[in-house]
Amino acid sequence: MKNECENMTLYFYGELEPQQAAAFQEHLAHCPHCQREMAFLQQTQQALVPPAAPEQVVQGALAPALAGKGWWRRVFKPALATALVLGAGVFLFISGPFGSRFDDDGQEWMAYISAEADEEYNSFVADFEAFEEKF
Ligand SMILES: [Zn+2]
Repeated sequence: MKNECENMTLYFYGELEPQQAAAFQEHLAHCPHCQREMAFLQQTQQALVPPAAPEQVVQGALAPALAGKGWWRRVFKPALATALVLGAGVFLFISGPFGSRFDDDGQEWMAYISAEADEEYNSFVADFEAFEEKF
């Protein structure tokens, strides 16, 4: 009996010789263990094969993810625009009469821009966390 139980997976994936498969089918009819395993494998396979799912179900499952993406876009676009405007302002400022000390040092300039961007990002994260706490 134990050997037959070990054929369960092979049978499920159609890997048994016809004779072995027939023998296993007979075993399956009398073995609660194999019946449970078979039901489990069938459920797992159904869950793992997307084409078996109706399109509406798939779209319904994807909708929250897509909506979430849109939500992030709505939040991030203004934040990004603000960061760009600030960046342009900083650029105009440092390339103007007050910023001559940056002119010969691109790396210092980049570090300055990065620091500004980090600040902007951190304040955005803080806002977002405060926003989240309300729920
Ligand atoms: Zn069995």
